[in-house]
Amino acid sequence: MEKFKESMYKLIVETSTNLPNDVRRAILQAKQRENAGTTAALSLGTITKNISMADTNVSPICQDTGMPTFELKVPVGANQIEMKKAIKEAIAEATKNGKLRPNSVDSLTGENSGNNLGDGTPIIHFEQWEKDEIDARLILKGGGCENKNIQYSLPAEIEGLGRAGRDLDGIRKCILHSVYQAQGQGCSAGFIGVGIGGDRITSYSLAKEQLFRSAEDVNPIEELQKLEDYVMEHANNLGIGTMGFGGEATLLGCKIGAINRLPASFFVSVAYNCWAFRRLGVTLTSDTGEIKEWLYKDGEEIKFTQDEAAEATEVKSTSREVVLEAPITEAQIRDLKVGDVVILNGDLHTGRDAIHHHLMDHDAPIDLNGQVIYHCGPVMLKDEAGEWHVKAAGPTTSIREEPYQGDVMKKFGIRAVIGKGGMGPKTLKALQEHGGVYLNAIGGAAQYYADCIKKVEGVDLLEFGIPEAMWHLKVEGFAAIVTMDSHGNSLHADVDKSSFEKLSELADRVF
Ligand code: SF4
Repeated sequence: MEKFKESMYKLIVETSTNLPNDVRRAILQAKQRENAGTTAALSLGTITKNISMADTNVSPICQDTGMPTFELKVPVGANQIEMKKAIKEAIAEATKNGKLRPNSVDSLTGENSGNNLGDGTPIIHFEQWEKDEIDARLILKGGGCENKNIQYSLPAEIEGLGRAGRDLDGIRKCILHSVYQAQGQGCSAGFIGVGIGGDRITSYSLAKEQLFRSAEDVNPIEELQKLEDYVMEHANNLGIGTMGFGGEATLLGCKIGAINRLPASFFVSVAYNCWAFRRLGVTLTSDTGEIKEWLYKDGEEIKFTQDEAAEATEVKSTSREVVLEAPITEAQIRDLKVGDVVILNGDLHTGRDAIHHHLMDHDAPIDLNGQVIYHCGPVMLKDEAGEWHVKAAGPTTSIREEPYQGDVMKKFGIRAVIGKGGMGPKTLKALQEHGGVYLNAIGGAAQYYADCIKKVEGVDLLEFGIPEAMWHLKVEGFAAIVTMDSHGNSLHADVDKSSFEKLSELADRVF
């Protein structure tokens, strides 16, 4: 079992830090489609630079470890109890070594277990097979994209597309809508797995299972292959683009599977996965537990370089660049417009779900007047001298803070929030009234942003757990794009509107 545990540790670390070859090739193709100089091209440049940094540093590609899900096929007679124990130990060790963020939270108390273990975490599925070897696969699917999963029950009325019946055309409408509703919030450009049939649970399981297929395989069912091709072409014409900034690359892969259903039910489930599609596998010898072969590593491995920020230079031709340092004045904020690139130096404070909830009814632990809040739950590691170090620090999905954000900004005089995916009308109104701005950082670019953090000044409210605490950071050259300004403009609302119009053009029956 010791060797098996070692192999599982390697699988976890490799999955967290090194994107599979099929995913790299899909990202490269997307990059080639985007027009240079646009914010979408800038985002993809940051993403590929981040992939390269994660390779070099053997650090998490994204700070959100996601839900570790293992799928194992084992020979008859394999001791699944011992294997489960070894996997859990490997998860705890990878967390301790900063390769995974502590991500398992008690649903009732909110307490973070600190080691990624707890009821239901990690997910481990076993299946027996006739072969003599072990096939172990792992996916780390983040919360931002998990929240964009969606399930339809046909027949249904789909917004923008009309009636969706219990046939291939109805399924087509569900899938197109699933991409539209995700916008940039699941860190597009993304991959989708689609499950048709089953009951509610197995339909979702089938959708997630599709994510274990190679991004480049051919569906053995001809009509599903045609549907996959159709979705790839038309979803990429919706103009949602990377991070929802608008652009050519919205979807990187679409895989569809079908199982039998009850006569009375017809479910179509979609599992949305961000560009940080961390899914790898190994085959192991069943007697020693040693790795025989890595899966998803065939074909050309695209090695992105860290010069990918060249696009950042090009984007200057179309975007204004503004350097800011907290405390920021209202006049500085009122001067910013959607599309500007802000380069932030100096103080930055993290705050996500627990902090926003807390600040509604409590004082802030520090003076936040003129300050910048970063929606981020970083991966942090304490050294032997007791100093904290940032291992990964990309933005988290901002829309979760929509009920609180405007009130919290006004109450404490916060001038800017940084996150990803945009926020809604309540926050937009508050930005106008108060003189605030929303800055969109590139989702998943956890290494890129960790590199901009020069010092950890301190931490408050650590009792909420590492990701939820308020970390006080000193940054240098932290770049983010103004996507909601103090004049009532929202790039997210604009892209939503234009992509909805394009979606509506696809209402006519095709299949
Ligand atoms: S890339 Fe975005 S959606 Fe994916 S795990 Fe990271 S933060 Fe979550």
